[in-house]
Amino acid sequence: MSETSGKTREELIDKLADLIVESERVVVFTGAGISTESGIPDFRGPGGIWTKYDPSDFTYQKFVSDPEARKRIWKMKETIGFSWNDFQPNPAHFAIAELERLGKLDCVITQNVDGLHQRAGNSEDKVIQLHGNMEWIKCLTCGDRHRFEEVERWLESGIEDPKCVQCGGILKPEGIFFGEAMPVWETMEAQKRSTECDLCIVIGSSLVVYPAGLMPQYALNAGAKIAIINEGETDLDHAAHIRISAKAGEVMSDVVKRVKSKLGKD
Ligand code: NAD
Repeated sequence: MSETSGKTREELIDKLADLIVESERVVVFTGAGISTESGIPDFRGPGGIWTKYDPSDFTYQKFVSDPEARKRIWKMKETIGFSWNDFQPNPAHFAIAELERLGKLDCVITQNVDGLHQRAGNSEDKVIQLHGNMEWIKCLTCGDRHRFEEVERWLESGIEDPKCVQCGGILKPEGIFFGEAMPVWETMEAQKRSTECDLCIVIGSSLVVYPAGLMPQYALNAGAKIAIINEGETDLDHAAHIRISAKAGEVMSDVVKRVKSKLGKD
């Protein structure tokens, strides 16, 4: 099935641009790898979050039941040296936003919690966030929401376990924690859009985190073509029509330049 063998990277980029132009419904599926060029560290690699944090602190049950675990999570900036709003989108995020402006994007389905697709210019309603978004903080009792920057100011003023200003409830980052249910609407919508697309482009995901990683498989099962841009191996490499092993930022910028040229919009 793969059209990858024997082709140069330039030929593969051109072929992917052709596929985007020909396709009616293009879904882009992204993972942590698309944001590494923005400087967001890997969770599991050397120096990653799990070398500085006990992953069990990121279980939903512990967060809601243990104030000491919450305090450790809220100290994240001190512990890992960054907060989520320190990062900017990179050329891969901008290229996907350009696909939307060109009318060639059905939606982005992302496992990322960094909000960089929206900051690059994708509309809120084009981004399906399967694992939530760490830029937002929500009250678990009344649902009141705050930007992370606002809560960060409370933390800097010495509050260790911030509470909801409306009702006193527990505040939690909207990123999905271990043991927390997947968001129902997002999961169903992602499955529907994957099943209905005719091209699914996977960017920067090893596809090993489930159920999110199943979305490209749904697309494939329903007859869509699959393109994979990823530096490492993925579980769907054998089934990909186009497989490019390279940095997402470089590849996606070139792909979108060619799409614009083929559409006569450059
Ligand atoms: P993963 O870590 O399992 O896979 C990332 C893949 O991207 C790897 O195969 C890696 O080789 C590849 N990669 C790294 N940099 C790349 C680049 N510049 N260009 C192309 N490929 C590159 O990631 P996953 O599949 O998303 O699963 C990890 C889980 O951790 C997800 O649930 C995600 O929510 C979460 N996570 C999110 C962020 C974020 O929001 N930015 C960061 C880390 C982890």
